[in-house]
Amino acid sequence: MAGTFVVYSDKTAIAIELIGFCRGSGKRAVALAFDAAAAQEYAARGAERVLLIECGQNLPEAYAKAVAGVLEREGAEGFIVGSTVRGREMAARVAGYLKWPLVSDVSKLVCEEKELVTERPAYGGAVVQQERVKLPAVVTVPAGKFEPAATSGAGAEVVTLEAQPDERTVLLERASVEKQGADLGSAEKIVCAGMGFAKKEDLKLAFDLAAVIGAEVGCSRSVAEERNWLPTDVYIGISGATVKPRLYLSIGVSGQVQHVVGIRDSRVIAAIDLNENAPIFKAADYGIVGDLYEVVPALIEALKNC
Ligand SMILES: Cc1cc2nc3c(=O)[nH]c(=O)nc-3n(C[C@H](O)[C@H](O)[C@H](O)COP(=O)(O)OP(=O)(O)OC[C@H]3O[C@@H](n4cnc5c(N)ncnc54)[C@H](O)[C@@H]3O)c2cc1C
Repeated sequence: MAGTFVVYSDKTAIAIELIGFCRGSGKRAVALAFDAAAAQEYAARGAERVLLIECGQNLPEAYAKAVAGVLEREGAEGFIVGSTVRGREMAARVAGYLKWPLVSDVSKLVCEEKELVTERPAYGGAVVQQERVKLPAVVTVPAGKFEPAATSGAGAEVVTLEAQPDERTVLLERASVEKQGADLGSAEKIVCAGMGFAKKEDLKLAFDLAAVIGAEVGCSRSVAEERNWLPTDVYIGISGATVKPRLYLSIGVSGQVQHVVGIRDSRVIAAIDLNENAPIFKAADYGIVGDLYEVVPALIEALKNC
């Protein structure tokens, strides 16, 4: 099933996962990079060719047309893009220039002979929508959907391209955004706090448990957006972060479908909740039915002594 997919993400780790997808699907992966360090990384990770676009300001708006030209010259039959703010912007513009179909934010992607089969949640995560899209096509994929490509001994050629930016959009100034919470996308263990906590101060229990097991702390959307107890960066679910830890442990999270969509790729799901009928227990591998104010301190004590 030879053929070329061009992969791009402004996050190197996601691009490496996309290279992994191409290699696993029997496609040639041509990786696009906008900086030399990322280009070298992709070359070492089994991309067959790496195209380094040299530019001062790598705004998607300014380079999408150039990228569309690269896809045409490479004879690509797919453009697989990391689903970040920049990635989505780039994907949509490239799809527009090439008049290719675009499927965004897929939770599953399978490559068949002449088409891609995608899945993504619809109706707030209540159903999974499956689509078949004929190649060539553009797809955006969030972090954590594929195993990262392993380092290959080969070391691909890195070709530097000079691209003419579209100067209708220029960068005037940069202002940094302060990231407030943990990076849950790459966390190995996550303790997730829900509305079962009665007071903000009680979240200390979640942080103490996280410290004992070496986890990051996330939360449900209600904890972040209704109560404003934790930054919106760390809420998990369909409209928040998608996570793929080795261990996800929820405390007082009921497990509504919009939340569970974001955790279902976790290797082990464990939950603590007062209500034995809470939907989280249907998603969980292990569950403790009980009052978090009794269970969590007991767990902390027990784990400290392990
Ligand atoms: C379009 C849309 C998108 C959404 N996107 C998201 C999303 O991305 N992420 C998300 O999380 N939500 C999302 N939601 C909201 C979602 O539907 C739920 O409302 C939310 O997840 C509930 O959060 P929770 O489980 O913390 O609270 P609740 O549903 O109120 O659950 C609290 C749980 O705590 C338990 N509890 C109470 N006291 C204790 C105690 N002492 N000890 C132990 N357990 C206790 C209760 O039994 C209950 O199960 C979305 C909703 C919509 C409509």
